[in-house]
Amino acid sequence: MSHDVVIVGGGHNGLAAAAYLGRAGRRVLVLERLDETGGAAVSERPFAGVDVRVSRYAYLVSMMPRELIDELGLDLDLRSRTVSSYTPTHRDGRDTGLLASSHAATTALSMRSLTGTDRAWAQWQAFYADAQQLATRLAPTLLGTLPSKDEARALFSDIPHVWDAFAERPLGEWIESAIDDDLLRGVVLTDGLIGTFAAAGDASLQQNRCFLYHVIGDGTGDWKVPAGGMGAVSGALDQAARKAGAEILTGADVIAIRETTDGAEVTWRDATGDEHVASAPTVLANVAPAVLARLMGDEPPLPKPVGSQLKVNMVLTRLPKLKSGRDPKEAFAGTFHVDEGYAELETAFREAKSGRLPSKPPSELYCHTLTDPSILSAELRTKGYQTLTLFGLHTPDALFAADPKGITAEYLARTIAGFEAHLAEPLLDVIALDQDGQPCIEAKCPLDLEEHLGLPGGNIFHRDLQWPWAESAEEVGTWGVATQYDRVLLCGSGARRGGAVSGIAGRSAAMHLLGRR
Ligand SMILES: Cc1cc2nc3c(=O)[nH]c(=O)nc-3n(C[C@H](O)[C@H](O)[C@H](O)COP(=O)(O)OP(=O)(O)OC[C@H]3O[C@@H](n4cnc5c(N)ncnc54)[C@H](O)[C@@H]3O)c2cc1C
Repeated sequence: MSHDVVIVGGGHNGLAAAAYLGRAGRRVLVLERLDETGGAAVSERPFAGVDVRVSRYAYLVSMMPRELIDELGLDLDLRSRTVSSYTPTHRDGRDTGLLASSHAATTALSMRSLTGTDRAWAQWQAFYADAQQLATRLAPTLLGTLPSKDEARALFSDIPHVWDAFAERPLGEWIESAIDDDLLRGVVLTDGLIGTFAAAGDASLQQNRCFLYHVIGDGTGDWKVPAGGMGAVSGALDQAARKAGAEILTGADVIAIRETTDGAEVTWRDATGDEHVASAPTVLANVAPAVLARLMGDEPPLPKPVGSQLKVNMVLTRLPKLKSGRDPKEAFAGTFHVDEGYAELETAFREAKSGRLPSKPPSELYCHTLTDPSILSAELRTKGYQTLTLFGLHTPDALFAADPKGITAEYLARTIAGFEAHLAEPLLDVIALDQDGQPCIEAKCPLDLEEHLGLPGGNIFHRDLQWPWAESAEEVGTWGVATQYDRVLLCGSGARRGGAVSGIAGRSAAMHLLGRR
């Protein structure tokens, strides 16, 4: 055997697994298809001649536990945002908006000014007090072996209504019973829809699981800005893995995995097309379960993953002014919701489900450079340039299949029109130009993510998110990384608790191999 462990894929989770295993003295080989590690957690300069390193895919960090950062000695600066979100709207004949800030009094004032009473603020506080209980009670379980569902439920024995609302019934019922205002309901619901194609009332409860991942991160649900961009997070894990002795090969495209009597053989192709074989007693798959099945020569598992987002990166010469008069530096510092009212989200879902692009695309934006300008060159910083990230919802991959480029361009135009309805000036007036005079806007539909990152259907979590507890008796007390193959474990987003930039899947696979409990 050439190694103790071969890791297929050098995404941030593969790197986390390599770091843990290397530190435990295991001989680790990481094989990454692309020319750089990091997978969906990378920083890149997509615009020719414009020196800005944008977080090209994932952009905020919440799910990475402090324990993991400390255990691996990662040098990371994760910064809190003062503004949680701003939602512009047109109400009672005026342009206004809802500001959710880390200062309670500011949020209360904004809600009163929007709705005319203090009821909305009271409902919002009560809802998030319950949601906070999910974080306090479930986040610590993510770092141990899987509890049974009964054990997870028992954590809520003194507040059974919270368990019932979140684990047994569709999220929509909880939101509708707790909050009256449509705009507030929509802001809450978005956490259940990021990268997840579901309605609020979906019986699958997919939206509940997605909501969970968005509110329990590190026990607070606080979404933080990685200073230096997402590449700094993967960069720190890459360094930790190399320092621990892991061998990391990029440009190494794995084309097959075969189990043998005492391990598995991994066949990979280098940039020149030459084939190589690496063998080890165990293989860790950082790739999606559907990709793993293909590499093993099997049919992909059902249901087929669906990706459902439009990711847009932009560079601006300055932030645009808003019709509501709100200071853009405040409005864009947190998540800026566009057409994400509760009814609007449901309409968009219904349209997409019936095979049409949503007429009013729901989306959310955020400006990284307000919290961390270090991703801009010194010259662009002096000039006052800013970045904007846009994440569009309810855009299933199948809608783009007929003409990926053309339909993406059309949907981008529709999305920008929705955004511009809240701006006091055309967006194009503030978009920076690249060295060829082209606007600095790039849009990635789910099919682009499938092609570049190997995400099946463009699903940002590799497959639908799963509950963070065992769903069978055999799974109780395991790390949630087993596959149908004896010699292959998952160490990526498709593992039971793997979604998001967290490193949890990589850590869980390593803990399994090291026999930790
Ligand atoms: C557009 C977008 C926005 C997102 N936003 C956020 C966010 O803000 N915050 C957050 O927490 N999460 C976000 N996510 C989700 C998060 O990025 C993922 O859950 C996480 O990055 C998954 O990490 P991973 O290491 O498990 O897998 P990946 O990042 O998918 O890495 C898998 C690696 O395997 C490699 N690979 C694939 N096939 C092969 C092969 N045959 N041979 C060798 N290597 C192979 C890939 O190139 C890739 O590097 C977002 C994802 C996307 C796509």
